[in-house]
Amino acid sequence: MKKLLTGWRALPVTSRIGIGIVAFLGLLAIFGPWLAPYDPTVRSGAPFARPSAEHWLGTDDSGRDLLSLVIVGARPSLLVGVLAAVVATGIGTAVGLAAGYLRGATDTVLMRLVDIIMSLPVVPLTLVIGVLTGPGLWTQAFVIAIALWAPMARELRSQVLSVRERDFIQGLRSMGARNGYVLTQHVLPTVAPLLVPQLVLAVQTAIMLEASLAFLGLGDINTMSWGMILATANQRSAFLTDAWLWWVVPPGALIALTVLGFALAGGAMERSAGLSAQVRSRARKKPQILAQSPGDNVEHRSAAEESAPETLLEISGLSVRYGDTESGVGGCTAVDLRLGRGQILGLVGESGSGKSTVAAAIISLLPGAGTVHEGRIVLAGRNLLELSENERRALRGGQIGLVPQEAQSALNPVQRIGSQLIEAIRGHSTVDKVAARQRVLELLALVGLPAEKFLAYPHQLSGGQRQRVVIAMALAGDPVLLLADEPTSGLDVLVQEEILDLLTKLREQLGLSIIIVTHDLPVVAQVADQVAVMRAGLVVEQGEVCTVFNRPQHPYTQTLLASLPGIEQLQGATP
Ligand code: ADP
Ligand code: MG
Repeated sequence: MKKLLTGWRALPVTSRIGIGIVAFLGLLAIFGPWLAPYDPTVRSGAPFARPSAEHWLGTDDSGRDLLSLVIVGARPSLLVGVLAAVVATGIGTAVGLAAGYLRGATDTVLMRLVDIIMSLPVVPLTLVIGVLTGPGLWTQAFVIAIALWAPMARELRSQVLSVRERDFIQGLRSMGARNGYVLTQHVLPTVAPLLVPQLVLAVQTAIMLEASLAFLGLGDINTMSWGMILATANQRSAFLTDAWLWWVVPPGALIALTVLGFALAGGAMERSAGLSAQVRSRARKKPQILAQSPGDNVEHRSAAEESAPETLLEISGLSVRYGDTESGVGGCTAVDLRLGRGQILGLVGESGSGKSTVAAAIISLLPGAGTVHEGRIVLAGRNLLELSENERRALRGGQIGLVPQEAQSALNPVQRIGSQLIEAIRGHSTVDKVAARQRVLELLALVGLPAEKFLAYPHQLSGGQRQRVVIAMALAGDPVLLLADEPTSGLDVLVQEEILDLLTKLREQLGLSIIIVTHDLPVVAQVADQVAVMRAGLVVEQGEVCTVFNRPQHPYTQTLLASLPGIEQLQGATP
């Protein structure tokens, strides 16, 4: 209960309003018949009566109380919406699972079907099926479900495709587990969280579609949903007099309110449970970031300050320019950063903000005309900018490991993984081949790859496995500092998750300090202790992840946080 209350307080106002609206509508749907002042099915006043003390919203053409009609109309409207959404999610899930898991011909056929349905505009599609199946509440729900399942199936399929390649699923399959068992016990639970936002979105769309269908004459004349009230108002020429004011506006407003309510409440789930598949599953692991009361925050900070770990890396006043002069372009300006031992620093910012430049300066690998004009980069007491070229070379892949941006293409496609790793090891120490081989096996185990991948070529590995190989290479020289430039970009959501788990595990096992460069805030939320936000070459804000995420000071950080996938993304997925 207490948890619920804290969770509620952490929600943004808009989400609370959304949940309030949905709860209100739910109550209306359940208790409507008892709340309505009159029986809306029988005549209770003069026809076409204007609002009065007896009939607050007046009456319709046959003298039925409009207020009662609207109240009682909540149930069928919501019922069709929710029912259609549940059925659509059910079909979408089944098709997505089947296509992604079985692949082959099943996949081809199902996905062509999805393509066809998605290429048709939703309203005409529902109309055509509706005309074929005839009017009625149940058929409406069915028709809407038919129109809505396709995008869900597609989304789910791509996730299933990636889950399917995961080691534990492959393991189960190789042990001869039945498809049905693997699907229901392992694949479905893994992808299930992705279904929640889809469902909320579908409810919204379905309620609007119901109104459209009813308005176009495909409603059930015996069940007055809001859409049906609108349709009747139109047929009885409510628009010719000012009757539309109390006959059309209230049900219309309720439909709008419902859609708004679900949209806002859906946003709440996105935020608190932190949706977009990534944000959501990440927030599960580190909920204190998104659901923390201001009080905790202060405590956390002071505790962290007390036990602040020893500084490993300190960058001060670092300015890099591309071009010959100090007035050259790009790079970064007056960057100050500090990283404690065993800590993870997230360096975030949009593309071109200078993140890679900072990383490259640390490891003395500035491309082309990039030059450090000012500043100090002190690693464990040594200013790296004062080292000789030889000393710097020893540092790279030695004390500092780099997982470069576009790391996947760093692997040689025609050389086996094992020998590439051996090269990486022998580049930094003079061990013999046997010892190097042994070390490669250790590294493979460390990054969670089976030993037989030693003989694999890069193309035989999945994207996630290749990323593990690149991380293993960066670890070859036993670094104290790992720089990972966009380590998760270009990977599937669930694989990203695994890579981040791996980095966290390595930090724990090896006591590594890590700088993760990323444009993806949720990545930082999940793994980092500290965050530095960059924009146009400047660090605009930095601090503890909890502090910065809960109370961003700089307007740019606020914008970044506000642009995390929310309602907008849900709506973006509307068919
Ligand atoms: P990020 O990694 O945040 O996307 P970068 O550090 O790659 O940003 O780039 C920062 C700025 O430096 C950008 O304006 C970019 O155009 C410029 N820049 C980066 N690399 C070079 C280069 N090799 N030559 C010239 N300008 C560059
Ligand atoms: Mg970059």
